[in-house]
Amino acid sequence: MSDQINRRAALTGFAAIGATFGAAGSVGLIAGDAHARAPLAKSQVSYYYRFPLGEFQATVVSDGPLPLGKPTDSMKGVAEAELIKALSDNFLPTDNIVLEQNVLVLNTGKRLAMFDSGMGSSKLFGSTTGRMLKSLREAGISPTDIDDIICTHAHIDHIGGLVDAKGKRLFPNATIHISQADFDFWTDEKKVDDKALGAFVKHARLNLLPYKARLKFVTDGKEVIPGVTAMSAPGHTVGHTIFLIQSAGKTMAFTGDTTHHQILLTEKPRTEFAYDSDPKAAVASRLKVFDMLAKDRIPMLAYHFPWPGYGYLGKQGADSYRFFAQPMTIVPIPVKKA
Ligand SMILES: [Zn+2]
Repeated sequence: MSDQINRRAALTGFAAIGATFGAAGSVGLIAGDAHARAPLAKSQVSYYYRFPLGEFQATVVSDGPLPLGKPTDSMKGVAEAELIKALSDNFLPTDNIVLEQNVLVLNTGKRLAMFDSGMGSSKLFGSTTGRMLKSLREAGISPTDIDDIICTHAHIDHIGGLVDAKGKRLFPNATIHISQADFDFWTDEKKVDDKALGAFVKHARLNLLPYKARLKFVTDGKEVIPGVTAMSAPGHTVGHTIFLIQSAGKTMAFTGDTTHHQILLTEKPRTEFAYDSDPKAAVASRLKVFDMLAKDRIPMLAYHFPWPGYGYLGKQGADSYRFFAQPMTIVPIPVKKA
């Protein structure tokens, strides 16, 4: 028997089994004598994930999924058919691009620092965002214990969770670290009525201005807090900055919005993103950061990648990269001593 016939026989067999089960199932349901003892559960796992980095401890807390809608709404310079094929080839929905929001909380042993903060009270992208405080609670972290909030940029989904809907500071003991370029651009009162930027500017003003007395500007190549160094990666916004985190010989990068999508903006990093202030500069920064991460084998925490967004980039051909998600480790394997 040829391979082909074997395969066909197997498939036919499966179809027959399926039909039998299907029929038995329907009969059972009608008769009302086949049901689970337990109802379908409505709860999910907590939305946090913890792992060590040298002597530091990283906890990723989610602000919830961020749906962006049709691929052509956010991805630019690529034909719709090509975007849909890339999504379909990767078994992803082709009608809605859904990003995650992976906020990092880093305990250095001396300071408790949070990186970015989610959408907060804004519902500009729907009702699934704004979960960060709940995720912090699930992780056993109190907002009053946060010493620093280190922001990659001043976009609504990164600075949105600093205050409540009334503008009250949610992190009373925190210093906010952000680039001056982004602070100045996104809190500029003159842009409040701008059609494209207005909603972002209003939310940036609501969230950042209450911290004005506790604001520190980050500088390219300089340490933000011990173990965390700023690296300028402009384009997505004027002052977009990523952060290199180092402890006891281990390094990781918090890459903010260097890339929003593990396939579309990673396998084809020259694709432009609708929310980029300067798409060409964003592409240049993306290629520079990707090259560094791949060459030096530095793991990244990608803010918008599938939960929890931690993994490596590998180069595949010219100008293309692949994301290798690190498996979530719930029970660490003991290291064998030689
Ligand atoms: Zn973002």
